[in-house]
Amino acid sequence: MSNPTHAWLDGLVKWEDATCHVSSLAFKYGAAVFEGVRAYWDGERQVLNVWQLDEHLKRLEYSQRFMRYERIITAEECRDAIIELLKANGFRSNVHITVTAFLSGPGQPFLCAPVSLAVTAMARGDYSTDGLDVQVSSWRRSPDSSLPQRVKATGNYLNGRLASVQAKADGYDTALMLTQSGKVSEGPAMCFFMVRDGVAVTADKQSDILESITRATVITLLEEAGVPVEERPIDRSELAAADEAFFCGTAWEIAPVRSIDRLMLPKGSPGPITEFLKTRFAALTTGVDDGHPEWRTEVEIP
Ligand code: PMP
Repeated sequence: MSNPTHAWLDGLVKWEDATCHVSSLAFKYGAAVFEGVRAYWDGERQVLNVWQLDEHLKRLEYSQRFMRYERIITAEECRDAIIELLKANGFRSNVHITVTAFLSGPGQPFLCAPVSLAVTAMARGDYSTDGLDVQVSSWRRSPDSSLPQRVKATGNYLNGRLASVQAKADGYDTALMLTQSGKVSEGPAMCFFMVRDGVAVTADKQSDILESITRATVITLLEEAGVPVEERPIDRSELAAADEAFFCGTAWEIAPVRSIDRLMLPKGSPGPITEFLKTRFAALTTGVDDGHPEWRTEVEIP
């Protein structure tokens, strides 16, 4: 797939000019926070539906504030940049967008300025899966007391990367990470749900997870469908009692789990509740189902 024509680096630039200096604090110390956002092409109406843009940009403001950036790039600034970039590239397909607020200058690691905004958007195909073979990782989630996962900082991703690389090396598709005290936390870039006796269970927000936008969406959709949801600590041993399971996240959408540590999920992959969510989620993101219009930002592509 060819590169897009434009990127955003404190303004619209040609793709090849969107570069960052090797002396920057972002490059040297991972001083950057970001969001991954999806936009879905509605061929019938000829618009891109940016999915839950406001929620993502609110979280980006929180991450910058947490990092004590001297200048916060506001949700409005980011929103305008994203829309201008999508139009400049003229996308007519599903798109994956990355929005990064980063420390672009050199200097000491305690500096909190200058802050730059980078946005890239790339066409993205359908990566949906029918079932993931999951390894419970021996790498534990970094705790809130050291590298909080609630903050979407690029440096945090080394933790999940170790787990993903290990899972691949061991012949699995991906990993499920535990907290320092051995409770289920989340996957490398996605949250985890299991269904047990008709109840959907997901790790609570104190289990070192990112406060995932898709997780909140899934909870809403399950509750609307009358499926009870529990947000609570999950013991590792409880995984063997799951009837079905899935991961969710902006990039992964709803990703069914086939097995955990080679133990097959009894209701198959996808199980019935996972299948329902996959279908509803796909219909809502593309706008085929016009429910929850507040979750879609329409961008007309010239
Ligand atoms: N956990 C982590 C560590 C992530 O990076 C992501 C992806 N943003 C998720 C969970 C899922 O979050 P969301 O639904 O907001 O994309």
